[in-house]
Amino acid sequence: MTKQTNWKASYDVVVLGFGGAGATAARFAADNGAKVLLADIAPYGHEGGNTRYSAQLIGTGYDRKALKKYYEGLTRPMNLPEDMVNIYVDGMVNTPEYVKKYLDAEPVSFMKDFDMPYEAKAAACQEYPNLDGHKTYDYTMVHNGWFDAALWKILRQKVLDRKDKIDVWYDARALHLVQNPENKVIKGVQIIKDGQKINVLAKKGVILTTGGFENNKEMVQNYLGASKLTPLGTLYNKGDGIKMAEEVGAKMWHMWNYEALGFLHGLSFDTPEGERSQLFLEWPQLNHGSIFMIVADGKRYFDETEHDRHGHISDHDIWRVPKPYEKPYIVFDKAQYEDIHKGKIPYDEFDEKLIEADSIEELAKKINVDIDGLKEQVKIFNKAAENGKDIQFNRDPKSLRAFSDGPFYAIKMAYNVLNTQGGPEKDVKAEILDTNEQPIPHLYGAGELGGICANQYQGGGNLAECLIFGKIAGEQAASVDDEVSEAASDQYNDINELVDGNKIDDIKLAENQTLGSSDAGIGGKLVVRVTHANGKIQNVEIVQNHESEDIGKKALEEIPRRIVKANSTDVDAISGASATSRAIKEAVKNALKN
Ligand SMILES: Cc1cc2nc3c(=O)[nH]c(=O)nc-3n(C[C@H](O)[C@H](O)[C@H](O)COP(=O)(O)OP(=O)(O)OC[C@H]3O[C@@H](n4cnc5c(N)ncnc54)[C@H](O)[C@@H]3O)c2cc1C
Repeated sequence: MTKQTNWKASYDVVVLGFGGAGATAARFAADNGAKVLLADIAPYGHEGGNTRYSAQLIGTGYDRKALKKYYEGLTRPMNLPEDMVNIYVDGMVNTPEYVKKYLDAEPVSFMKDFDMPYEAKAAACQEYPNLDGHKTYDYTMVHNGWFDAALWKILRQKVLDRKDKIDVWYDARALHLVQNPENKVIKGVQIIKDGQKINVLAKKGVILTTGGFENNKEMVQNYLGASKLTPLGTLYNKGDGIKMAEEVGAKMWHMWNYEALGFLHGLSFDTPEGERSQLFLEWPQLNHGSIFMIVADGKRYFDETEHDRHGHISDHDIWRVPKPYEKPYIVFDKAQYEDIHKGKIPYDEFDEKLIEADSIEELAKKINVDIDGLKEQVKIFNKAAENGKDIQFNRDPKSLRAFSDGPFYAIKMAYNVLNTQGGPEKDVKAEILDTNEQPIPHLYGAGELGGICANQYQGGGNLAECLIFGKIAGEQAASVDDEVSEAASDQYNDINELVDGNKIDDIKLAENQTLGSSDAGIGGKLVVRVTHANGKIQNVEIVQNHESEDIGKKALEEIPRRIVKANSTDVDAISGASATSRAIKEAVKNALKN
């Protein structure tokens, strides 16, 4: 006889993970009559996963035939079930309509409307111009802007609008699915909330939308072959969805596949473990001139100037993220140091992190890389600069300048991870499959957890997937009719921790103080209290915000100081936290108007 589970709450559908896929799945399950629980491991204000940090670009195609051809080209030489490709391509052709109909936003075309030179837009948007069909590809935006959480805020609002049908739990980590051992039906889930183990019955189904394993070092080592990757997005995606799916016999796919972003094919400056890295899309002084990138043997391992595609560079004609090695350093000479310092340095800790030495040998010793290797590398590089030909990696001759005098410099780098694609395989109904390719009853999935991308990634594909498969998963789970019927208490039902982030708390004001707010950040309303006297800004306090915990936090501390010092909102943003910086400046402007 199977042991009876002590259910402490009961819902029709339980969605695990409140990112783009989870928000979408919960909303469509609710719209199809289900009472839904949406649980997220993050605390309030920090839900949203990678979706919140993303560039907010949704993959779109105008000509279905061309888009299918393009997608097949991206996938090749790997295989994907054709019905999955069809449903995905249909969904992407429908993106503008979806944005209008379900997100109540006017779709904006990146290629037509975004303010950027056409060539740059084409390079950022149609990433594989060598493939047939690329010209039909575009990004849809929900307004004319990127990296500002605009799409995420709409998806979140759609959940809030259905407050009567969707309960949201924060600080709620799902760890195990509860499965009937005989018929394999998923009956519910065990969630750790406030230190309590809560078994939640899911009468119709569970939808796994817990994102990837960017922050699970062991999985990163096992599946991606990297000792450590530094996340650009959320810190809360720890691969729990993979463990849960494995426990109930799911088949995994695309585990090796991941994306990066940033200059030098997905690198950032070395970042302590457990922190997000700062994204730099471009920094020409760091790949043009007497400068190159090395690893432990003192040798270069790629063309620093090559245009990458979400971190992928050409590897004998297949585009892959270069293998992460040990001790990645950028190395340069005095002339390059001076060039770098002539321009604006968008990384506050650049000088602090520089390692300086009078000779190449001393530099190699200081950074603990192979001394002879680095000396030889400098010689080879200098010869390449002299001859105008880089026989190692064919770097653009115009970007080569021989190393001359010391001092010489090095700065430690880190390998970024944007998102992982691996996880449980699903079918066209978003049903998660077992190792015999049969649907596991009552278990669905969407988003980057088991994403569709089998090989070369085209930007916009992940968010498209959240919208397309999130909708399918929500609708399918809500329409299950062989419900699990087991006795359950309602002790934990009707707790809803999702509050309206747009409400301004009751904030006290003295006579010389005014409040101002802005929606330009990535976490809902940001509110400041400004103290002024004799036409001068005396103090700026952030009294409400849900920005990111690290780089965003730096902006929260630093921008108010800069505004007070300059007595103006015309101050530099914190690099890597441009949305938060913009929101603070806008809120102060509004407070001054008031
Ligand atoms: C900087 C950056 C830019 C990007 N730009 C784009 C872009 O423009 N276009 C595009 O298509 N893609 C982009 N991507 C990729 C894309 O953002 C993600 O693949 C996508 O948002 C994933 O959505 P998701 O809902 O599957 O996962 P997420 O949005 O990551 O959400 C997963 C949620 O699950 C929660 N969770 C994790 N574990 C548990 C657990 N055990 N219990 C409960 N909750 C849990 C997390 O807290 C999180 O809220 C970008 C990514 C980054 C980092």
